[in-house]
Amino acid sequence: MGVYMVHLLSPYVNQGLWLRGSLHIHSKFSKCGLHSLPEIALAYRDYDFLAITDHDCVTNGEAVFPDKVLFQGYEVSGSRHMLLIEPPFREELPDNCFSCAHYNDMARRTAACGGFSVINHPARISGQAWSFEEILQTPSVQGMEIYSGDGIHIEEDIGLRLWDRVLSAGRRIWGVGNDDFHHWGQERRVWNVVQARERTPDAVLEALRGGNFYVSTGYGFDAIEVDGSDILFRLKSGSPLFAEAYKYLTLFGQGGKVLAEKTGYFQEFCYHACGDEGYIRAEVYMSGGYCGISQPIFVA
Ligand SMILES: [Zn+2]
Ligand SMILES: [Zn+2]
Repeated sequence: MGVYMVHLLSPYVNQGLWLRGSLHIHSKFSKCGLHSLPEIALAYRDYDFLAITDHDCVTNGEAVFPDKVLFQGYEVSGSRHMLLIEPPFREELPDNCFSCAHYNDMARRTAACGGFSVINHPARISGQAWSFEEILQTPSVQGMEIYSGDGIHIEEDIGLRLWDRVLSAGRRIWGVGNDDFHHWGQERRVWNVVQARERTPDAVLEALRGGNFYVSTGYGFDAIEVDGSDILFRLKSGSPLFAEAYKYLTLFGQGGKVLAEKTGYFQEFCYHACGDEGYIRAEVYMSGGYCGISQPIFVA
């Protein structure tokens, strides 16, 4: 009789620099965006990486953001929306006529050149929503927005339950948080914290592609460490206020099942995997409402 070993596949490498960034920002070069690039530079002055992703066109901001890791890309904006970060064909306007096969092909070509693609606001019931089936039929897209900061529709833009359905169907896709910034009031609501080996475009893209990041509205993780069948979630420190704060941590697995919950004053949480979880992902909230949402760790 052998000892049954649980194999955990974690995207977290736990070395490098934590860098903050947003991949979904509109400027006045989109019809619906109100602000100039210098205004956006002010709003996101302390972010490490940014992508200005206007609707169906590339906006070049290199002169305005000299100190940032800046990506080129756009939001393909047919009846469904999809971000392409560093697509290989950015000289031409994208054909935004939606079909799963066509969008998937654009995502596949972007990934083949080292770029990153994201399903936008899939749960937005006022328009441009993606169905569960459409997400499954675009397997080359690497991320989906699980939290959109477009505050007009905040009640429609939380995609966490949809993400659990997609993950539970066996589709491995990373959760992404973006402001979808159009005008003042939408900036800095939700972002991505990647752990990159250095502060360069290649290293940030590598972390995004590999899922070595979490989604944040202000709180998060110092590390997520796997040791055998155990996962140690080390919550964000670096301020006495984080250490003092009351916290709420929930782990979710296959079917959106709650695997574990803990509330109180604590700085880390260890979970012992049994092997039947499918995947394990964490949401941690701090008093005041700030959150960190981890990527799934897959259970094999
Ligand atoms: Zn959109
Ligand atoms: Zn947008």
